[in-house]
Amino acid sequence: MSNIVAIVGRPNVGKSTFFNRLVGHRQAIMDNVSGVTRDRHYGFAEWQNQNFTIIDTGGYVTGSDDVFEEQIRKQVTLAIDEAHVILFMVDIDAGVTDLDREFANVLRRTKKPIYIVANKADTPAKSNYYGEFYALNIGLEIFTVSAQNGSGTGELLEAVVSNFRDEDAANPHAGIPRFAILGRPNVGKSSMLNALIGQERSIVTDISGTTRDAIDTHYTLFGKNFIITDTAGIRKKAKVTEDIEFYSVLRSLRTLETSDVVIIMIDASLGFQSQDMNLIALAHKNKKGIVLVVNKWDLIEKTTQTAKEFEDSIRAKTAPIDYFPIIFTSVETKQRIFQVLEKAEEVYQNKVKRLSTSLLNDVILHEINLYPPPAARGNQIKIKYLTQLPTNSPTFLLFCNYPKDIIESYQRFLVNKFRKHFGFEGVPITLFFRKK
Ligand code: GDP
Ligand code: GDP
Repeated sequence: MSNIVAIVGRPNVGKSTFFNRLVGHRQAIMDNVSGVTRDRHYGFAEWQNQNFTIIDTGGYVTGSDDVFEEQIRKQVTLAIDEAHVILFMVDIDAGVTDLDREFANVLRRTKKPIYIVANKADTPAKSNYYGEFYALNIGLEIFTVSAQNGSGTGELLEAVVSNFRDEDAANPHAGIPRFAILGRPNVGKSSMLNALIGQERSIVTDISGTTRDAIDTHYTLFGKNFIITDTAGIRKKAKVTEDIEFYSVLRSLRTLETSDVVIIMIDASLGFQSQDMNLIALAHKNKKGIVLVVNKWDLIEKTTQTAKEFEDSIRAKTAPIDYFPIIFTSVETKQRIFQVLEKAEEVYQNKVKRLSTSLLNDVILHEINLYPPPAARGNQIKIKYLTQLPTNSPTFLLFCNYPKDIIESYQRFLVNKFRKHFGFEGVPITLFFRKK
């Protein structure tokens, strides 16, 4: 999931409509990063098994012409910097407008792949009018789509995904766990890292006006190798809070993409908040390992029940994502800080664990025999055998006679049995059912 597609264009061309179509039922993550411009949206989309992050860059601006131009520059610059592919959306009903030309002028600075997306081509007849957009003199190709009825989307996405990098190609660090520490500002992330590593990390110098990919730092602690991915360098000189928020969200996305296990840190004195939930959901959706760290535990007045109550209140908020370990730490008093790394390592091992087909069938088929799936539409449902798929988070394929009739509560039952017998603490379990 390391590819980012940005939609840019003037207001009212249909960017958010198209965004919603691509994101579909998956709800937008990190909604409403509010600021001067209209809220920006981030979401996940998938096309033919290729996942990508999509950003609707917003773009509604009021104010003088100067402000307007500044906003365009900003919006487009963000897209140029962060995206791998840029969709420049225009309105086929309106044709080329002055504002479209201004967008094109700014976009011309990048060598990244750009496609002109002529939207509102609701009928085949309308889609014939794309020719005039050649006058914008930009982009690899022009596609006509209708964000409203979906036509043309497939062809466009096919072109888009052809630009994606193969994430797994030539990774020199394959096999070494990659951890990232994420969380809101001031929860204690860098203090934790410094305490764990015991020395100042390499400080990344800011190359002005540029962004960079995540920086990997390779560590050895207690004879274990691991990599901490850090995107500190991505943060640019932000002038307004809007930018700070935007970059910190993107930074989390990027860091998360490049890691196996995310250590999500919260501040005990502030409690678990909606942004923390966003990170948990993001990690879950991306099938990353999760360790939740409640830091600054020294600031909390405690009785014997406090940790339990704190944990319960978090679990109530994150349900049904319930499989991650929670560790209460204090960097200040060095309480349990090494447990964080040990846990992260353990979660990583759970993530890459492979179970033999014979063991799986012995254990899980036994459970299924004791408590078979409920019959559906008069059919008895039989799960015949199962196997683990060679993916980088535990995924199991179960063969059965009526795969579509396995109800969700039964799937949850099975996931619980997997956890009961095989652990998998900290990692999501995915089940697929196929007809046999
Ligand atoms: P944005 O400002 O670029 O994000 O544009 P919106 O997505 O808010 O859309 C602006 C207007 O165009 C809304 O009234 C949409 O319903 C309409 N619209 C968006 N896509 C289409 C389309 O494919 N066909 C038609 N006819 N209208 C569309
Ligand atoms: P970051 O923005 O998440 O990297 O947070 P920092 O590591 O910069 O820490 C923010 C502030 O919290 C600093 O003043 C730290 O000294 C303080 N801090 C970090 N960990 C703890 C802790 O466990 N207890 C207390 N009381 N303060 C902490």
